[in-house]
Amino acid sequence: MIYLDHAATTPVPKAVADEMYRVLTEEYGNPSSQYAYGREARRLVDACRGEIAAALGCEPGRLFFTACGTESDNWAFTAALWQNRRVGKHIVTTAVEHSAILERCRWLEQDGYEVTRLAPDRDGNIPTEKVLEAVRPDTALVSVMLVNNETGNVYPVTEIAAGLRARNKETLLHTDAVQGFLKIPFSARTLGADFISLSAHKIGGPKGIGGLYIGERVRSPRPLLPGGGQESGFRAGTEATAQIAGFAKAAELRMEGLSEKLRHMAEIKAYAMERLAEIPDLRFIAKGTAPHVLSISMPGYPSQNVVNDLSDAGICISAGSACHQGKPSQVTAALGLEKKVAAGVVRLSFGPETTREEIDAAAAALKKHHDTRFPML
Ligand code: PLP
Repeated sequence: MIYLDHAATTPVPKAVADEMYRVLTEEYGNPSSQYAYGREARRLVDACRGEIAAALGCEPGRLFFTACGTESDNWAFTAALWQNRRVGKHIVTTAVEHSAILERCRWLEQDGYEVTRLAPDRDGNIPTEKVLEAVRPDTALVSVMLVNNETGNVYPVTEIAAGLRARNKETLLHTDAVQGFLKIPFSARTLGADFISLSAHKIGGPKGIGGLYIGERVRSPRPLLPGGGQESGFRAGTEATAQIAGFAKAAELRMEGLSEKLRHMAEIKAYAMERLAEIPDLRFIAKGTAPHVLSISMPGYPSQNVVNDLSDAGICISAGSACHQGKPSQVTAALGLEKKVAAGVVRLSFGPETTREEIDAAAAALKKHHDTRFPML
């Protein structure tokens, strides 16, 4: 099997699975238990938090474990809107966020919030000025993702953070960095966001564990889950020790030779663009600069058919986020693509393990689809 869907989820290295098995079978104590075995589990959780915080560039006390990136995104909204409940009920975000944000915004509108969704230009970019101009005296929260999961566009979060302080110093800034963490270089210390969402399964960790960085401007974050006091009382529930250990191990492994891994992914993406350019009419969508995401379209060839044919050839690519139940995704729609281009969008995404041979196989399968099927639109 050739796996080219690393933006959907990533393979779990054996060392990560082994560490999770070890924790499940040998260190299964409850970190809140008062005897030595519980204290060992507590030490494990603390050490893992330290490992991930070091990779993110923040104090361990600023990083909280959650169940996934979706939960982190939602908690950031809960906490920010609570802190700024007297600032106002206006939110600025983009039209190309993950559904975790867009759906939350849709629900918030039903609760009386006003949401400004900024559209990208044809290249998928959203300039800093556009975000800042949308901020008003009653803007409680700005939420702009770091890396788009469908186009690979990298958004100017550092500049937005700097400009936001001058525009409205109360407004809090959240960034969904689920596709950015250990994929592009950044540090929580210099990024300037008040909330940063992470998810383990995009970096070789297990599914079902995420993280939320909460910065010092957030005075007392509204608890996501009030309960037994875990995660400093903000997100109660017995810690998922094996998932946490898997997350930390994955971060540790990714950090080894990280710049070399990022360079490799960027080279693979450049190589893929070179090979895919040989297919007649093929379009590159947005051409975002993140090293691991490449969206393309063979205009007129419906994306689900392309995915099916490649799947039959043992190659995994995605139409999942590019095509939602037959309709183009919100991202594709926001880019204002022609109908037949939008309907053909598929995403290839890469990891440190991806090889040129795998790209050759995918390019050949896409070419075959192009040459042997008739366009339907
Ligand atoms: N945000 C982005 C940008 C994503 O790509 C994803 C996953 O695809 C998520 C959030 C959700 O993360 P999780 O699957 O951990 O809930």
